[in-house]
Amino acid sequence: MQLTSNDIPLAAKPLDRAAHRRTDRIWLDAAFARPDVLVFLMRDGMPLMEGPAGPAFAPGARPDPTPRSLIWLGPEAKDFLNGAIRLFLGQDKAGTPIFAVCVPDNATLDGTMLAGSGEFEDMRAAAASLSLLEANLVSTARSISEWHRSHAYCATCGSPSEIVDAGWKRVCPACEKEHFPRTDPVAIMLPIRGDHCLMGRGASWPAGFWSCLAGFVEPGETIEQAACREVQEESGVICLPENAEYLFCQPWPFPSSLMMGVLLKAESEEIKIDPNEIADARWFSKDEVKQIMAGEHPDAYCPPKTAIAHHVIMAWLERD
Ligand SMILES: [Zn+2]
Repeated sequence: MQLTSNDIPLAAKPLDRAAHRRTDRIWLDAAFARPDVLVFLMRDGMPLMEGPAGPAFAPGARPDPTPRSLIWLGPEAKDFLNGAIRLFLGQDKAGTPIFAVCVPDNATLDGTMLAGSGEFEDMRAAAASLSLLEANLVSTARSISEWHRSHAYCATCGSPSEIVDAGWKRVCPACEKEHFPRTDPVAIMLPIRGDHCLMGRGASWPAGFWSCLAGFVEPGETIEQAACREVQEESGVICLPENAEYLFCQPWPFPSSLMMGVLLKAESEEIKIDPNEIADARWFSKDEVKQIMAGEHPDAYCPPKTAIAHHVIMAWLERD
């Protein structure tokens, strides 16, 4: 099956964002007070999940896919608004409004109605166990809350800026400049040569963990050009932008990337890594990658389904 971006975790099952509601303060206040409103809490970019907590996140860690849920609140979520950001995420098919309340980093559940009921968890560890809809909501809320954290001051005049539009914009009261959440394009690519593909490893990754090479798209570049430049910089392998094939993309909220999956046709084989960028790179045969993706390789493994790299690799395997 040919996947599209709508099939990729974190992007799948998107909500109706109902953006026209963001400027309607009266509607937003009424929606937040509705008995059927759905609200979850975030702290420090981490969603509040039903316990017990899964294993802590580590680069390359294999996530626990046991299904778990966010802790959902109703209008009683107003008790957590002190010092928090109230983010309107949209409405589900039934019209139910959904909000995230991003509480301050030092907020505690002790002494609240939620004491002992769950834990704020790293999203990279939690994403595999959330439903597609919940993973999409948390991904959006995480990116926006991280943006607010790092953009408290106006980039034009340096004054403290204010949150408006239900969390989707900041405005500077001094110079009236508007600021919008950023999204950073990243190319993530798999160079192919014959029946082999090129994968690499980061220096901090656990032994045996391999993935697609990736890098930020620079100003003035296309996705395809960035993919080829990054492969050459990191591995020395030459690819041509005109032979690149864009596949699909995934919002990746760490903090605000949009990962764009690309298959490349390699024009050369020799590998010469840049040790400042990656720890290693090598060619894998299709048979070997099939074994890895089936979880049957003795000492190599690749990213889980929550990461777009998994789907880029699978897209290549399912060709021919
Ligand atoms: Zn300003």
